[in-house]
Amino acid sequence: MGENYELHSRHLNPTLVRVQRTIGFDRVYTRAEGAYLYDAEGHAYLDFLSGYSVYNCGRNHPVIKQALVDALDLDLPNMVQMDCSLLSGLLAEALTKKTPPHLDAVFFCNSGTEANEGALKFARAATGRPRIVSLHGSYHGLSYGSLSVTGNDNFQEGFGPFLPGVEKIKMGDLRALEKLLRAGDVAAFLVELVQGKGVKFPADDFYQKAQALCRRYGTLFISDEVQTGLGRTGKWWAFQHWDLEPDIITVAKSLSGGYVPCGAIVTRRAIYQKVFSRLDRCVVHSSTFGRNNLAMTCGLAALHVLENEKLVQNAHAMGELLMEKLDALRRKYSFLKAVRGKGLMIALEFAEPPELRAKLAWRLMHRIDKALFPQLVIVPLLSKHRVLTQVAGHNMDVIKILPPLTIGEKEVNRFVRAFDETLAACRKFPGPIIELARNTARELIQRKFGRGQTPRRQPATAAGRRGRKNSKPLTDNSANNHSQALLHHNGNDSHCQSQLPAYERNGHSQFIAKNGRHSGVVN
Ligand code: PMP
Repeated sequence: MGENYELHSRHLNPTLVRVQRTIGFDRVYTRAEGAYLYDAEGHAYLDFLSGYSVYNCGRNHPVIKQALVDALDLDLPNMVQMDCSLLSGLLAEALTKKTPPHLDAVFFCNSGTEANEGALKFARAATGRPRIVSLHGSYHGLSYGSLSVTGNDNFQEGFGPFLPGVEKIKMGDLRALEKLLRAGDVAAFLVELVQGKGVKFPADDFYQKAQALCRRYGTLFISDEVQTGLGRTGKWWAFQHWDLEPDIITVAKSLSGGYVPCGAIVTRRAIYQKVFSRLDRCVVHSSTFGRNNLAMTCGLAALHVLENEKLVQNAHAMGELLMEKLDALRRKYSFLKAVRGKGLMIALEFAEPPELRAKLAWRLMHRIDKALFPQLVIVPLLSKHRVLTQVAGHNMDVIKILPPLTIGEKEVNRFVRAFDETLAACRKFPGPIIELARNTARELIQRKFGRGQTPRRQPATAAGRRGRKNSKPLTDNSANNHSQALLHHNGNDSHCQSQLPAYERNGHSQFIAKNGRHSGVVN
C-alpha cells in the first residue's frame, strides 16, 4: 500500500509526491464509480474535482465502458490512416449535431492543448494574419502555442521565448481590444469564456461586443470549450450563455468519456478548407492517434450518455441548487464573500471578515502565506469529510468545485454539510491551521536544511540567454509552482516568497520558520 507514491518518487515526479504528502492528499484510491472514489477500506470520497472536468459523465460509466469492450471485441481495423474510418465520421456527425449549424467541420486530436494549437494554426491559415489576442487570467494548455496565449505568467516561467505576435488584454477592456484589432493583422481572439482560474466571467456584454469588434475587423472568434464544453456550465457550450457565434471552438476533456484522450476543433467549413486547401495539403495538419477507434468510441458513448441522461439539464439544476445552498452560508460566515459559477463550475471566494478577532487571524494567515486560507478549506474537506476539491488559482482566496454532472441532491447535501462544518472549524482559527502548518513547516525545514537543496539556476545556455527576456531562470522555488499546479490546475502565481514570522501557539505544534524563505509547498 502506498507503493504508487514510492514509484512516483523514484521514476516520475517526486515534487508532486512531496506536495501530496504535505497536504495529506497522498491517498490510495483503489476503485471509482460515478461521483465517488474509494480507498482500500471501502471509504467513499466525493469527487468534486472530476479529473479537472474529464468526468462529466461520472467515473467508469457502464455505457461508455461497454462501448469500449464492444469496440475491442470487434477487432476493428484501427488507424489505417490511408482510409476514412466510420467511427470518426459518426463522432463528427454526432458532435456537429450539438453545435450551431455554422460549426460543421471537425478535426480530431488528443488533448485540449493540441486542439488549441490547431485552432491557432487554422486561424492563421484562414486569415493570412499573424497575431493572436487572448485574455489575462486565461488558461489554454501548456504546449508552446497554447502556453504562449495563456494569460498566467507562472506557467511560462523558465520556458520562454514564446510565440511572437501574441497580445493579452484584460477581460472587459474593449478599448484595448479594438486598438489591437484595428491594425488589421489579428488572426484570432481566443477566449476561455468562463475562466477556470477563479471561475471568472464578465457580468456585462463584453463578449458580445468583443465578437462584434472581431467581425468588424475580420478577426476570428475562438471559444476554448475544453473545460466549459459538454454541459459543464449547464449548457452544452459556454458560448450559449452569451448567444455568441464563435468561428472555432475547441473541445477535449469529457469527450474522452473519462477513458481514452480525445480532443476536437469544430469550425466553419470555409475556415477548415483554407487549411486543407490543396491535394498536397490533405494531411498538412494531422496527428497519428487523432481519430483512433477507441477515442471515437468514447466520444460517441459520452455524447450519448450526456444526452440520454439529460446531464446538461442536470448540471444546470444541480448547479443552481448548490449555489443557492452555498450562498445561504454567507449569512453564517462573514469570510465567505461570494459564490459564483455557471452550472457545475463553481467558485467559493473568501475575504477578510469584519470581526476584529477574525480579521486579525485572517491577516496573520495572509502574512504567513497569501494563499494559505483556501488550502485550510480543501485539506480538511478531504481529510475529515472525504470530499475532493481544489484551490481555484494562485494567490487567490478561492476554491473551485467541478462535480460530475451526474450528481443529485444527495451529493449536493453532503458537500454543503461538509463545507459548512469546515468553515465552522476555520472560524475557530487557529485550530485548523495547525495541521497544515506542521506539515508545511516540516517540508520547509527539510528543504532548507535536511536535504541540502539550495536554489539552483538553469544552465546558462545560449538559448537560455536568448529566452531570458521572457523567462526568469527557474530556481528551486519551482517546487512551489508544481505544488500550485497540483492544487489549482489553471492557476496564477505572483511567486510569493514571504518572509515567515516566527509563529507559535500554546505549546502545540509550532510553525517556526525564522529567517526562512518560504518556498511553500502549499503556497
Ligand atoms: N483549455 C482549457 C480551458 C483547459 O481547462 C485546459 C486543461 N485544464 C486546457 C485547455 C488544456 O487541456 P489539456 O490538459 O487536455 O491539454
